Amino acid sequence: MAPVPAEFVCIVSVAIPIPVNQLFDYSVPEHIDPSQLHIGVRLRVPFGNVIKIGILMTLPVISSRATASKKLKALDAVLDAESLLFPHDIQLLLWASRYYYHPIGEVMSAAFPLALRKGHPAQCPTVRVYRLSEAGIQLDPVQLKRAPKQQQLLTHFQTQPLQCLSDKALALTVTPSRATVNALIDKGLLIVAAQIAAPIPQNHDLQAPLLANPEQQHAIEQVRAALQHFRVFLLEGITGSGKTEVYMHIISTVLAAGQQVLVLLPEITLTPQLEARFKQRFNVPIAISHSRLTDTQRQTAWLHMQQGVGGILLGTRSALFTPLKNPGLIILDEEHDSSFKQQDGFRFSARDVAIMRAKRLKIPILLGSATPSFESLENAVQQRYQLLPLPSRAGQATEPHFLILDIRNKKIQEGLSAPLLQAIKATLAKNEQVLIFLNRRGYAPTLICHSCGWVARCQRCDANLVTHYDKRQLRCHHCGDEQPLLQQCPACKKAALTPLGLGTERIEKVLQNLFPAQRIIRLDQDTTQRKGALEDYLGQINRQEVDIILGTQMLAKGHHFPNVTLVALLDVDSGLFSIDFHAPEKLAQLIVQVAGRAGRADKPGKVILQTRQPDHPLLLTLIREGYQRFAEVALRERKDAALPPFSYQALLRALAMDADSPLLFLQAVCAVINAMQVAGVLLLGPVSAPMAKRAGRYHYQLLLQADRRVDLRTVLDQLMPQITRLREAKKVRWSLDIDPVDLY
Ligand code: ADP
Ligand code: ZN
Ligand code: ZN
Repeated sequence: MAPVPAEFVCIVSVAIPIPVNQLFDYSVPEHIDPSQLHIGVRLRVPFGNVIKIGILMTLPVISSRATASKKLKALDAVLDAESLLFPHDIQLLLWASRYYYHPIGEVMSAAFPLALRKGHPAQCPTVRVYRLSEAGIQLDPVQLKRAPKQQQLLTHFQTQPLQCLSDKALALTVTPSRATVNALIDKGLLIVAAQIAAPIPQNHDLQAPLLANPEQQHAIEQVRAALQHFRVFLLEGITGSGKTEVYMHIISTVLAAGQQVLVLLPEITLTPQLEARFKQRFNVPIAISHSRLTDTQRQTAWLHMQQGVGGILLGTRSALFTPLKNPGLIILDEEHDSSFKQQDGFRFSARDVAIMRAKRLKIPILLGSATPSFESLENAVQQRYQLLPLPSRAGQATEPHFLILDIRNKKIQEGLSAPLLQAIKATLAKNEQVLIFLNRRGYAPTLICHSCGWVARCQRCDANLVTHYDKRQLRCHHCGDEQPLLQQCPACKKAALTPLGLGTERIEKVLQNLFPAQRIIRLDQDTTQRKGALEDYLGQINRQEVDIILGTQMLAKGHHFPNVTLVALLDVDSGLFSIDFHAPEKLAQLIVQVAGRAGRADKPGKVILQTRQPDHPLLLTLIREGYQRFAEVALRERKDAALPPFSYQALLRALAMDADSPLLFLQAVCAVINAMQVAGVLLLGPVSAPMAKRAGRYHYQLLLQADRRVDLRTVLDQLMPQITRLREAKKVRWSLDIDPVDLY
């Protein structure tokens, strides 16, 4: 490109990671050739008094210097020669910014690993590799029979899956002399290259795929037939029905076509299990991405996929935007899990965005779950998704048997009823494992004075403090506040403080007393904080070094406990009375998921539900007629009440140190919306949040609901540019949540 004449200036628009939804213009200084600026490259730019890393969003536009703003700053440096994001990635991010009304700079930056966001060079370590040339692949080694060492080396290369070996791998296997290697190079049979150091697995005894059963075969064929097209599949199969096996059959087809697979999981802790299974099956580099890895590890995984070196990317929500050179398939396991929804900042649903990504890439996406979300089930009914049922357990495993235990007016020993204790003893006597679920950590949720009725409350939240005996603390589970355990009542000074209610810590002590000879472990946030702790525990469980497993919803997350034959849910009643319309769905998923841990191998499992609501219709439908039927009934109720997925919601939250500001702000927002006179959008609120005071701040919310998404968008499209200009907005922190999954 010819130099720009002095009376003109080149201007570009840049996305900068700040909470303002706009692009910022910069001029291109003389030392930067505008033709080198590609959309998507990272730029270093001055912003206020600091330097920021932004993303170039437009090609340079030539403008007259006279009309250009005097305030226009020049960009500092261009960090990438080519964009690291592919054009379809940029399109997806632009869409996500519009869909979630989230600032474009923050959305763009969410696509990059932290190291790249900070402006580090996009490099990962390379290794020296030797690869057979075309001639080397073709040549019959016999031709080298007069040079036996060269013949041997050539043969060795020809038997490698990728006809490629690193320096190091070569030294470890055949230890050829330099001269032999050089001879093959000189003959043009071997090429030396620098390759990104993706660990190419050298697994020689890969497991063969299992012979699929007819339902699995059907599912596999349906997805295979849709490869290279966009289509959403919902693989609904109870735990142990062989979903992972289906994934692996399809993945192998995609890999064989030279394409990459993105596999998303809700939880970090599920990655090692799946990674191990994939490594036994596939000889391709597997990239892993989640928040417990170092910045360098994540950057390397990201670049491996971006450059097409990695075959499979296994990651959590944040891995969704990783660029893929040759995308072929997206799999999202445990699709119902609300961890796929980001609950702060850029509040996107990884499931919904993944579907949009598959659509733009024209590839299939496979959603898997034993308990699909109601939205996905409804989408299957509407034939927007194709349902692939796996109705029975693969192999010999049988489905667990449910038992409702009415504990009204029954003698209960610290949360455990007599029939439950019997069942535990019987199971242990058979040398089988017991799993006990209680979704409340700590010792007891309430500390009350027996003498005067004083209750330990958090000063900063509308919540009770939870007693933690292990750490001798009272803790708030909402703001994290901690204080030493009290010895006497602060009100009446008597030593009459009594912990009320049950937490996992307390049940653990009870079990230790009742079963002193048994090995018990507790899995909750408190016992698994240390890195690797959960993995250690899971190993102990699988090696059967443990008899009783006690834990919170961590237990509902897809781990395999093959020797567990009794599952007990101590208290699910609290879930029956939530005001959030999502609660029954979440409760049913939790019950079925926890129950799914039982009897996975060839031993039948039993599930006991302790409840004071034995006739509750929700429980009865779920247990007698199954999750599918439960979902049908619940979806019909939602339809009658015009709740999602039969309507569309956006939740505007606001908080401040005082109770008035958030309310005034939301009222002002209501006034703006009412002035628009758009029909079809219902304003529910403003009201205080279900827990109004949290961490010393007052929370209010306004729910917008519409039967047609377009009406909701019309309102939000007009509202969002105005909202920051509201005088009342200055005194609050606010956020907009599109398609909220909890109304907390
Ligand atoms: P899910 O992912 O649905 O929980 P998995 O794929 O992990 O199920 O399968 C559960 C168990 O059944 C595993 O031990 C797996 O090896 C076995 N399995 C799956 N498919 C088959 C099959 N077609 N034949 C025999 N065993 C199978
Ligand atoms: Zn007291
Ligand atoms: Zn608190």
